Amino acid sequence: MILQKDNQYAVECQTKVSKHCVQQGEYCDSEEDALLWVEYECWIDSGEGWICTTCHETIMNNMVKMRIEKESAGPKKPDRGDGLDNDLEKGIETVL
Ligand SMILES: [Zn+2]
Repeated sequence: MILQKDNQYAVECQTKVSKHCVQQGEYCDSEEDALLWVEYECWIDSGEGWICTTCHETIMNNMVKMRIEKESAGPKKPDRGDGLDNDLEKGIETVL
């Protein structure tokens, strides 16, 4: 999660799902500073790592899109006159 280069530290974006992802934070002198930098930039702490604001926005948009698709797909109710009534009538006729 934390990149190290020439004694400089930067926090890497965990997901990089967005095309415009910044990939990593600014290189700082210490891990603490690197973490402060992403906090200052409002990156989201996922618990396992940090997600840059651009990727977080992309993830949120995808979640909303998925929810809308799910709702519009919904469970289909069978149409009336799906054959059940006919079968029932036929059954009754046979009995009579
Ligand atoms: Zn990102």
